[in-house]
This record gives sequence, C-alpha cells and structure tokens, in this order.
Amino acid sequence: MAMMKTAYFYGGEDIRVVEEEIPSPGADEVLFKVMSAGVCGSDLHNYRGHRTREDVPWQQGHELSGVIAGLGEGVTGLEIGQRVGIEAEHLLGCGVCRLCKDGQYHICLERGVRHGAKQSSHGFSQYDVCVAENVTVLPDDVSFDAAALVDCYSCGVHAMNRVPDVSGQNVAIIGAGAIALTLGQVLKARGASKVILIGTREQPVEVAVASGAADVGVVIASGSDPVEAVLAATGGEGAVVTFETVGGQSQLIQQAVEMTRRGGAVSVIGLFTKPQTIDPVLAMEREVTIGWSNSFSSWKGESEFATSLGLLASGRLNPDPIVTHHFSLDEIGVAFATADDKRESGAIRVMVRPNN
Ligand SMILES: [Zn+2]
Ligand SMILES: [Zn+2]
Repeated sequence: MAMMKTAYFYGGEDIRVVEEEIPSPGADEVLFKVMSAGVCGSDLHNYRGHRTREDVPWQQGHELSGVIAGLGEGVTGLEIGQRVGIEAEHLLGCGVCRLCKDGQYHICLERGVRHGAKQSSHGFSQYDVCVAENVTVLPDDVSFDAAALVDCYSCGVHAMNRVPDVSGQNVAIIGAGAIALTLGQVLKARGASKVILIGTREQPVEVAVASGAADVGVVIASGSDPVEAVLAATGGEGAVVTFETVGGQSQLIQQAVEMTRRGGAVSVIGLFTKPQTIDPVLAMEREVTIGWSNSFSSWKGESEFATSLGLLASGRLNPDPIVTHHFSLDEIGVAFATADDKRESGAIRVMVRPNN
C-alpha cells in the first residue's frame, strides 16, 4: 500500500506529521502530488488560538499546486503528469442554487459541501484529491509557487471586479501582506495609475514597491500619517478606491473612508473580528460606497482563478518576491512559526513543499 506524509492540526502550535495511505480519487476526482502550498493568514487563526474548531484534528492548505498522479472514473481532458493549479475546495458551491447558477458559488449557502460532506484542500500533505472541475493545467512558464499564489491573486481580481474601473486612477491599499501585494500587482496590471500602499513596517512595503505592487509606499512606523500620505500622493483628493486588507481587531474602515475621494469606494477584504465604528457623516458627505469582498469565484461568466492565471502567464505579475520562505512538510511547525512572526522573520508568503 502506497503511503504518504500529511499534517494534522490539533489547535495552536500542535501540528503532527503522520504517515497514512495515499487517497484514491473517486468518480470525477483527481489525485495530485502537492508541489507548493502557501501558509495563509486564515490558516494562522487557529494557530494563534483565535478560533477554536470542533473537527479536531483537521487538515488544511488551500493555496496549492501540484502534478496529476491519478484520475478517477469519468475524468476527461486531463492526464497523469500534468502540472496543475488547484482551486481551493472550501469554495465549492452546491451548483444548483440561484447564487451558484449566477456564478457566485463563493457565497453559496452550502459552500464547501460536496457529496454531502464538507470539503477542504489538504496542501500540507504529499498527495490530495479534489474534484476535476477545480483543476487547471498550468502554462509551462508558471511555477508551482506562482500557481499556489493564484488563490491570493484571485482574491485581488475579485475585489477589483467589484469596484469602479481602476484604470488610470489613484488607488490606496491598507496592508502589506501577501493579499495586499498580490492585489497591488493586479491593480497595476489593470492600469491603475498610482497605487499607494500602507504598511506598518518598512521591509514588506519596500518589497511591495520593488515588486511592482505599489508606486508609493507609506510606512507608519517611520511616523507617516497614512491619511495625510494618501492625500499628499493624490493632489489632496484622496484615492478613488481604497482596499482594506488587514482586518482583525483594528479599526481601519473609518481610516479607509478618510483617505477616499468624494464619490469613491472602500473595498473591505480583511476579515474584521471586532465591530467597526464609522463616522456616517463623513461617509455621507463624501458619498463613499463601502463594500465587502469575500474570496473569489467568477465574474461575468469568467473564472477569476483563470483570469489570475492568465495575468501570471502573460508575465504582468511578479510572484517571486512575494514568496520569502520555503520549508519541507517535516518542517511545517517552523513554517507556521515563520509565517506567524512576520516582524522577526520578514515573511510575506511562506511556502511548504511537501515533496521536497
Ligand atoms: Zn488563503
Ligand atoms: Zn449553491
């Protein structure tokens, strides 16, 4: 019986790598060898003890890419050995509800459920299976790491699709993590004239500017007032769209409104875990639209995953500087510690390579 290594998460820092049987693909499923899997901010919620789960232990790793190793019954158009990008399985829709029929499967009430069971991707594993519809063959010049970042790029594409056209416009991004940097690159690829990116520390903001994710970097630690900095960079007007990517316990939606131009929009991508206080008078005066952006799915009939992959293949995105660290599956504890302590490690996106 062929065996593999996979990581189980027990909550907090308790992560155990065990040996188990390689899964076999069911009907319409694909077995793949995982080549790269990113450690996402959402993976860190449990690691930091912010959220507790009932399904202990669980497996995770939803930003992933690999090589096809087996095909289930009824799978056509794919071959063993192909390099593939994988769309995260927790975003699967039921396929039959109104939202799914509209292509908005990412907000389906039954999101992540298939064959009557909750599905998730297991990138922190040597092999994983997923439904064939979530598999996309990679162009030769898209690396496994870049393909694992398509999940992040797609969140940026989705946020961009939900706001007024950014081409030729000044936009602001609050945050300097992987979502902020991938978003900035997507906005530049779509023709944004100036991207102003705001981070707390110097190093990731420098990477943002050097990697083409931002034209202007604002570092709060060195005394810059983010609102003043955005106004200064936009001739006093403010950003046409401000994207908030931090979330958590902070109060950043109000700040986003303050740096947004009259008639502009705020797009909230960060997941806030605290109620937000917003000055309704200011938002009313400026008639700022505040909207939310959750993951990604499709837009006007086109898969946002495919849009991101197309941008990558065209060479208009620059994924390499965003991936700062690599670890093997046996080092997954170190990988999570590195991703968790960005201040110390300088991590932006940490990749686990389960078959190295
Ligand atoms: Zn993610
Ligand atoms: Zn549905």
